[in-house]
Amino acid sequence: MTDNKIALVTGGSRGIGKACAIELAKAGCDVIINYAGNEEAANKTVQEIKSLGQNASAKKFDVSNKEAAEKAIAEILEEYKKIDILVNNAGITRDNLFMRMKEEEWLAVINTNLNSAYFVTHPVSKIMIKQRSGSIVNMASVSGIYGNAGQANYSAAKAGIVGFTKALSKELASRNIRVNAVAPGFVQTDMTKDLPVDKIIERIPLKKLGMPEDIAKTVKFLAIDAGYITGQVIGVDGGLVI
Ligand code: NAP
Repeated sequence: MTDNKIALVTGGSRGIGKACAIELAKAGCDVIINYAGNEEAANKTVQEIKSLGQNASAKKFDVSNKEAAEKAIAEILEEYKKIDILVNNAGITRDNLFMRMKEEEWLAVINTNLNSAYFVTHPVSKIMIKQRSGSIVNMASVSGIYGNAGQANYSAAKAGIVGFTKALSKELASRNIRVNAVAPGFVQTDMTKDLPVDKIIERIPLKKLGMPEDIAKTVKFLAIDAGYITGQVIGVDGGLVI
């Protein structure tokens, strides 16, 4: 077994997850990135991590599918023998005003952004409990804290992630496992590329969008450095929620 910490980052092929994977690799972790379908992006991220001198691999599975997540995590354990860090990052948006929101849009977002936290964290936390160590960082959002019009599904899922983080941190603390969350504001990724940036920036006290690296540095801090922090939700939002 390697002495390096082993980190699993869901949705680690692009955007915020990719930046988290790279930041954890820079801190000496070997990283498994999960993705849904974009193999080219996943392979590129794996190569970038390997060029930093760390071991990396890509694991394709749908985080909203319980069986798929369980199978993938069993395979990861078989290969790597442990999981030290889990970043529950994979997420999607299906924005619509609630009156127009279709059931598929509601369910897709709840399944991918909230139920995935159960499907992935349940098997991983069993491993961490046996190890008597681990650190979990969940990706929340400002939308889960202040609610965003047009995002009832997404805000509900992210608020769920906040509650999940706090409850799980209390359950797992005695096993030396910390559970925290990051709540990003608006971050420059594929997810936000079609939003009206100028209008959004007016509302942000720091007058700029966040970069994936801004979120990743906080994730790395919580995952590795913050040995006495658990159950916290850290806003990384340019002052959007004050
Ligand atoms: P992104 O650029 O769209 O990347 C999404 C990542 O998640 C990709 O790696 C994608 O894989 C993966 N993914 C999507 N559905 C999946 C599924 N069912 N199973 C496995 N992987 C899946 O998104 P992002 O902006 O980086 O967002 C990352 C996280 O931060 C999300 O939880 C999001 O809600 C949260 N967040 C983002 C912002 C923002 O402004 N961007 C703000 C607050 C919170 P493929 O490449 O294979 O599609």
